[in-house]
Amino acid sequence: MRIGVLALQGAFEEHIKMLNELGVETFEIRQLKDLSEIPDGLIIPGGESTVMSKLLDELNIREKILEYADNGMAIFGTCAGLILLCKDTGDPRCKGLGLLDCTAKRNAYGRQLGSFETIGKFDSIGEIPMVFIRAPYISEANKNVKILSTIDDKIVGVRQNRILATAFHPELTSDLSVHKYFIDMIKNR
Ligand code: GLN
Repeated sequence: MRIGVLALQGAFEEHIKMLNELGVETFEIRQLKDLSEIPDGLIIPGGESTVMSKLLDELNIREKILEYADNGMAIFGTCAGLILLCKDTGDPRCKGLGLLDCTAKRNAYGRQLGSFETIGKFDSIGEIPMVFIRAPYISEANKNVKILSTIDDKIVGVRQNRILATAFHPELTSDLSVHKYFIDMIKNR
């Protein structure tokens, strides 16, 4: 199994570390030619969604991701990655990939609660540590979207077919279970 990690900016190294700990082969995607072959999965990390959205277009990577998603590549987005996956990013400066039938709310927790940690339930996994950094949540999700996790009635984890997204950063904890969940998702297609 080969998983590419979008490495344009943001917290991509932590994802690579986690995947390697789980024995998965990884590679960094910095330009279009890094996507010359379809990987089994793609991770879109946290960072700044408006910047990443712009870079996806400038580097002509957006169309390639959409083409591969159409051909069965699984995608996991965390935080800014979640925003980028949504149909409606809630911000005109950020063009979403439109792969999640959801509306995101960027920087949804305001200044005071900008960053926080909590323990929350995640689908079949159970309780896991969750790190939120200027995080979004999903304000609306279509019926075809499976809600995997909510914190204080806000949706923070979803799955739609081959697309997985969390508003929090599992890669900034030592808990490997969400990455393992993604790997199992790829295996059980
Ligand atoms: N606030 C960032 C954004 O809106 C997301 C923060 C993150 O990825 N940690 O893009």
